[in-house]
Amino acid sequence: MGGFRDSLIEAGLLMPTGVDGVWGRSGLFEGILDGLDRAISAAGADGGAEVMRFPPAMAREGFERSGYMKNFPHLAGTVHCFCGDDRAHHGLLGAIERGEDWTAGQGATDLVLTPAACYPVYPIVAGRGPIDADGHLVDVASYCFRHEPSLEPTRFQLFRMREYVRLGTADQVVAFRETWIERAQALVRALSLPFALDVANDPFFGRGGKLMADSQRAQALKFELLVPINDGADPTACISFNYHMTHFADTWGLRVADGTIAHTACVGFGMERLVLALLRHHGLDPAGWPGSVRATVGLA
Ligand code: AMP
Ligand code: ZN
Repeated sequence: MGGFRDSLIEAGLLMPTGVDGVWGRSGLFEGILDGLDRAISAAGADGGAEVMRFPPAMAREGFERSGYMKNFPHLAGTVHCFCGDDRAHHGLLGAIERGEDWTAGQGATDLVLTPAACYPVYPIVAGRGPIDADGHLVDVASYCFRHEPSLEPTRFQLFRMREYVRLGTADQVVAFRETWIERAQALVRALSLPFALDVANDPFFGRGGKLMADSQRAQALKFELLVPINDGADPTACISFNYHMTHFADTWGLRVADGTIAHTACVGFGMERLVLALLRHHGLDPAGWPGSVRATVGLA
């Protein structure tokens, strides 16, 4: 991995925390991320999207209903806590002191870490009743967790995902995805980044996972915009375009005005990955970036 990661650390842009894939970031890094966030808002400004922001954890109940543990048990993070009495506390402190496992007594809470920013959106919109004839559009962002520790600086365990989520008829959500495939490419061109667009699949777990992945590809349900970032590695997915068909609508009973089941789609921006793509291609000091790129991220 070497070069690029080391240079990010040397420049102070990323700070190792002792856990692979969990980084501290500098003010410069965050300033670029904020600029990208504003550029994404500008690209989606015409949609009148409803803004929703969530903490990095969501209801365990909704997570269970979504089927995440069926498809991605290996990526999930659950929130556990101590719920014992004095005696149990004593035992816990003793185990820590002896360097033994103290976590066995931790109990599950009603929270899990959010795996993708759009997950908390569906039950909220479904709870309002049928979507009106124009469909609905949500602008959502959240820290997300995926248990995929890695030395690649582009693979975080905790990272920020910004999404636009479209809910409505099949025609409405498919048109939305087409629009965003174009808009995202225009944005990445304005950032002067090399990229490719490709059909993709999620990393479904286990033996059945390959079938799921093949079917997702065959139906072209997921596209990714990939940018070469890491030394000697495949290009990295920086933006994803997902058509869920009726998966989330079935889960939450989400209907359109005529009473039929809704369809949903989302476009997800990996914020840290986009920052890293800019640093990789234009250099670690934004002062030297092309003027057009600086302007796109608001670094006048
Ligand atoms: P996905 O739900 O897997 O399509 O993810 C949406 C977007 O989040 C991707 O296009 C990536 O840009 C970003 N992303 C996914 N996983 C990670 C990760 N481990 N670290 C950083 N960004 C990620
Ligand atoms: Zn999504």
